[in-house]
Amino acid sequence: MIIGIDLGTTNSAVAIWRDGESVLVPNALGDLLTPSAVSITDTGEALIGLAARERQPTHPKHTVTAFKRFIGTQQSVTLGKRKFDAEELSALVLRQLKADAEAFTGETVTGAVITVPAYFNDRQRKATRRAGDLAGLEVKRLVNEPTAAALAFGIQTREQEPFLVFDLGGGTFDVSIVEVFDGVVEVRASSGDNRLGGEDFNERLIDLVRARIDPDKKLEKADPVVLAELLRAAAERTRRKLSESDEAEFAIVWKDESFATTVYASALEEACAPLLQRLRDPVLRSLRDSNIRVETLSEIVLVGGSTRMPIVRKAITRMFGRFPNATVHPDHAVALGAAVQAGLLSRDVALDEVRLTDVCPFTLGIEVAEGDGRGGYREGIFSPIIDRNTPIPASRVNSYHTLADNQREIHFGIYQGEAREVASNVKLGEMRIQVPPKPRGEVSIECRFTYDTSGMLDVDVSVPSTGVTRSLVIMDQSDPLTEKQIAERRDALAAIKVHPREESENAAVRARAARCYESFLGRERDIVGQWLSTFDGALDSQDPRTIREAREQLVTALDSLEGERFL
Ligand code: AMP
Repeated sequence: MIIGIDLGTTNSAVAIWRDGESVLVPNALGDLLTPSAVSITDTGEALIGLAARERQPTHPKHTVTAFKRFIGTQQSVTLGKRKFDAEELSALVLRQLKADAEAFTGETVTGAVITVPAYFNDRQRKATRRAGDLAGLEVKRLVNEPTAAALAFGIQTREQEPFLVFDLGGGTFDVSIVEVFDGVVEVRASSGDNRLGGEDFNERLIDLVRARIDPDKKLEKADPVVLAELLRAAAERTRRKLSESDEAEFAIVWKDESFATTVYASALEEACAPLLQRLRDPVLRSLRDSNIRVETLSEIVLVGGSTRMPIVRKAITRMFGRFPNATVHPDHAVALGAAVQAGLLSRDVALDEVRLTDVCPFTLGIEVAEGDGRGGYREGIFSPIIDRNTPIPASRVNSYHTLADNQREIHFGIYQGEAREVASNVKLGEMRIQVPPKPRGEVSIECRFTYDTSGMLDVDVSVPSTGVTRSLVIMDQSDPLTEKQIAERRDALAAIKVHPREESENAAVRARAARCYESFLGRERDIVGQWLSTFDGALDSQDPRTIREAREQLVTALDSLEGERFL
């Protein structure tokens, strides 16, 4: 079976295609969203999902979230005794989602469609594929998140009218203009900012309250890692409350002391004005690239948890002069769409009529030199071959000429980006090809770029006069792994004991109680301590019924203490 996975910065979700529709798969806790969080216990066991997220405040050095932000880079984190890079952490989450889908369907999962932000570059896409590989999943396709959202929303509804998918998640912002024509979903343009999301709003909120909650600067003595996590969790709670009301408390507890203040929605809006302003640019760019006027958009579709924020909705309404459409659950749309694509790949008849086109989200080209008008040359100029927003798969060829007399070799870099100077773009690789010695300008070479739907680039260069050809293996520095090394890493990852799935509910509830113990004071803290002892006693009994009853009691008690938890 092939599953559809939304591997999100904050939360992930998995869906399957069944009986002609997409269905979200609940995890072992019964939740449809699984926090993209990993925590390593003292005994070296991995906790994934809510249990890990709940441990973050109490075990910040053993827990990591938001690692999607550094996928495809060399950055790693040390959790306990072991170092992890983002693709390994992603693999642990993917493995969990795979297990959830197998438990839900009773079938073996072999492959997956995984979504990525439209703005992910080649490295980030490759790393995501490798994460799937490390999780034991054959990645059938990577699909851009807004495209997946469009599949969840658009296909069954509007025909022949462009609509805009506005996806603001935890860490990334994507805008796509999508059109449905005869059952074909076409992404006309996509644009975005892969450094803008809910986390940035949290940071602004923290800046807003930081001095106010701590006029005596007591918190300066706190461990910065612990403090950062306390502030982030409080910001997240406050921001979500502000989605429901006009004011909310921002509060943290450190060393038995409470630091708190009230935040008004209007103050948050003011503090976040620069972020709200940054939402405009990608929207304008995608409209321009697709040649579509804002009045002709039939809908503005909201995707991503952060579009729940009233200040974001207000900014969108102002920007477009009308209300956006939020009928698809903003947190579920991407996974549901990935499952539509998974169904499509397994050739389900119900989807026979649906095809999908996609676009290349950035310009791809090579480095050239050009005349400076004074007989000399300026080097390092970008020559685009595949333009941004070209429907893919795409294959384009350009011709180039030698620059010097008797030149024997042409050597150039391959880049992605929009800047005229290659130095400001991202270098993907470089290649050389031999040419026959001739006066300058007399030898031409042809350079063909082929970009496929998974974001993989093939470069083929040929010298028509000699018939010499070269195909590029992009020498990606972060990607020197051989099959053998991947297999070794997969085994190493498989050796990490994951907390048993059937016990994940206990682990999550216990981590939550431990977190509450640390954040509450006085009488409440004592009570939580007693609850924890009672629950630990039940766990020691090893009797499933006793444990279940104790767990249910503990959840009810914690809910009454701190309000319902959220993902
Ligand atoms: P996603 O990456 O789509 O899972 O979105 C996660 C982001 O959505 C996080 O930054 C959350 O803070 C944010 N989010 C989820 N629910 C709400 C809500 N009710 N109000 C404000 N932000 C929310």
